[in-house]
Amino acid sequence: MPDASEQCIFCLIKDKKVPSLPIYEDDFVIAVLDKLPATKGHAILIPKKHVNGIHELSDEEVSQVFNACKRIIFAMTQILNCEGVNLVYCFGPAAGQRSPHMLIYIIPRYKDDQVSIIWNPMQLNEAELKEAYESLKKALLSAALPEVHEKPKEPEVIEEKPKETEVIEEKPRVPSY
Ligand SMILES: [Zn+2]
Repeated sequence: MPDASEQCIFCLIKDKKVPSLPIYEDDFVIAVLDKLPATKGHAILIPKKHVNGIHELSDEEVSQVFNACKRIIFAMTQILNCEGVNLVYCFGPAAGQRSPHMLIYIIPRYKDDQVSIIWNPMQLNEAELKEAYESLKKALLSAALPEVHEKPKEPEVIEEKPKETEVIEEKPRVPSY
């Protein structure tokens, strides 16, 4: 099976095999400016390890990712004089993931910019809300998640050309007690 990272544009960026505009680099991540940015200074944080999502990283690696985010956000607020920052992480096609390589978009926000990160609040009925509350609370508050580093499911990652989404069997993300 060919290594998924061979053709991955973000691995090529990380390996400096394609030109990019790097603004930050350490031993675990590189951040480059998006050439089609949402706003001035919009950056893409790329873990150097080819992983599909945050669940494939160790706790220490996740710390490295967010420490880098912290530095970049600090620089953005100091240097660009932006008035806010959004971090955007997309996992799975339903969330808009288009790359097989995990990314975090770091978007400086300015007054009256044209970025829209909004949703319409939905009304869950009492039973649905209770079910989500009880199951998540049970999984997260009362027990460690032994398989937290396992892949929760196989999303079909669509790169550039959208195609029919396959129906993928949902695997349990948390242990059932
Ligand atoms: Zn990659």
